[in-house]
Amino acid sequence: MARLSLRCAAATIVFTALVVPLPVKAQAGVDAGSSTPLELTYFGAAGWKITDGNVTVLIDPWPSRLKYGGGGHPDDDRPDYARTDIAVSDTTLIDSLISEADFILVHHGHFDHLGDVPYIARKTGAKVIGTETTVMILRAYGIPNDQLYAVGGGEDYQFDGFSVRVVPGIHSALNEKHYHDTRRYDRNTVLEAPLRIEQFIEGGSLSFLARFDRHDILTMGSMNFIEREFVGIEPDILLAGINGSRLGLYEYDRRLLETTGFPPVVIPTHWDNFRLPYGFSQQANIERNILPFIETVGELSPGTRVITPVHLEPFTIR
Ligand SMILES: [Zn+2]
Repeated sequence: MARLSLRCAAATIVFTALVVPLPVKAQAGVDAGSSTPLELTYFGAAGWKITDGNVTVLIDPWPSRLKYGGGGHPDDDRPDYARTDIAVSDTTLIDSLISEADFILVHHGHFDHLGDVPYIARKTGAKVIGTETTVMILRAYGIPNDQLYAVGGGEDYQFDGFSVRVVPGIHSALNEKHYHDTRRYDRNTVLEAPLRIEQFIEGGSLSFLARFDRHDILTMGSMNFIEREFVGIEPDILLAGINGSRLGLYEYDRRLLETTGFPPVVIPTHWDNFRLPYGFSQQANIERNILPFIETVGELSPGTRVITPVHLEPFTIR
């Protein structure tokens, strides 16, 4: 049984049973016994690396974790960025974490989701799947069209050893539910890279059903979802958006678990303070977001195991 520790300034919380045996999906022609377990690595914010040994998929990878738009920590001596500043990536850090990728799934175009994708897409040659807004931003950075798949939601694409269903989504209810941004980039939009941080607009939001050899993962990049779009999906693993703004939504936790068929494994995502660099304590967000969520899931879905990810510590699911 694997154990992961959340290393925090105030306390150490040990989560057990991070290697979770799950029923193997019946797939014609696939010898599931020969495949390796799914390995997941949390980059923070809504960012992930997920690999089954054959296919490596990145989701909203944003290791740079720039300090921008306020917030942050007094001990973080990195530069402060305003939203009007030119977007930058910490390429040294990215290079130390990401060497290859086959696909990059982008939930929406905001900087904390898309900000490092231009560099990572160029470096890895990965195919990127996202909204037209996302694709227009990547084109501005010179990513070739044959790497880019603009989607609107509803697509269900088969690739070599991997398939992905694109699920229409909805952004977190930021600013006490007053957030609403209908701006989109399209083929007529003129963008010149490098962009300013504020030019990374949402451009609509998506979720993905990422189907690996043995597991179906439903991904979220926001603390929100369109209930009817999740009906019938029933993933093995749910990456659940767990942050404070969800508390302003009607029975979010119950509707999310119920609609997705009470997944055997739920992994909180986008729960951390992403303005802090790796290595800084996330204890405040663990107490605010994770612990109450674990308690709620225990009541609503006792058969569900909640796995709390630790930045950059890979864990496996068999
Ligand atoms: Zn966003």
